[in-house]
Amino acid sequence: MHLRTLLLSALSAPAALAALNEPCYGSGGVAGVCVTTSTCTASGGTTITGACPADASDVKCCSKTSCANGSSGNCRWSSDCAGTTVSNQCPGPGAFKCCSSGATGFGGYSAPAIPAVGGCKAVAVTGATTVVNAWPGRIRQIYCTRDCACPGTSDHCCGKAIDFMCSDAGGVPTSSGKEIAEWAMNNRATLNLKYVIWGQRIWNPSVDSVKAWTSWRSMEDRGDVTQNHWDHVHVSFN
Ligand SMILES: [Zn+2]
Repeated sequence: MHLRTLLLSALSAPAALAALNEPCYGSGGVAGVCVTTSTCTASGGTTITGACPADASDVKCCSKTSCANGSSGNCRWSSDCAGTTVSNQCPGPGAFKCCSSGATGFGGYSAPAIPAVGGCKAVAVTGATTVVNAWPGRIRQIYCTRDCACPGTSDHCCGKAIDFMCSDAGGVPTSSGKEIAEWAMNNRATLNLKYVIWGQRIWNPSVDSVKAWTSWRSMEDRGDVTQNHWDHVHVSFN
């Protein structure tokens, strides 16, 4: 490899850390998307700093709370739109659209099936039931076990973790999970919580004090909406 190529690789390395085009929360907690500041400006959005974990310095959380789709037009993830959507008025990927409704539009799902106790341990089954009952309509699907040796790289391997899918489909981003994740933190004793992950941030009662999700520890960019926990809340149990 030529030195010039090496240098270019090194210079471009930080960009690989950016969860570009993935969700974030803008000013006041409104739906946002991590894009370059130039992309945001070009689409009429406004940025805030520090809301896109592990991002390159020119990538910021961009939100746009007024767009032309009725009196309440605002840019949000289409999974969260309770009204109609219009394309090409919002920054970022196609799933970030101009929504006609000012409502959050979260959830609206039938109660998901809860796994039986077995491979999925009792603490996780009980925790799944508790969360689903506390958030009616907000959890679309539950995943517990994974086909891996226990102990393994994930608490799913031991049936002691639940993925609470909270958007319209796997891989579809939503802003819905933040309040569910914070609820899990606040109900840590009831849930026998080991740790909770939402939106590329983690909270663990053994090392973290109780605080808003925006102050939770940020995680590396794992590469997509699902692995960065923008379509489900992950809860591990003791
Ligand atoms: Zn998980």
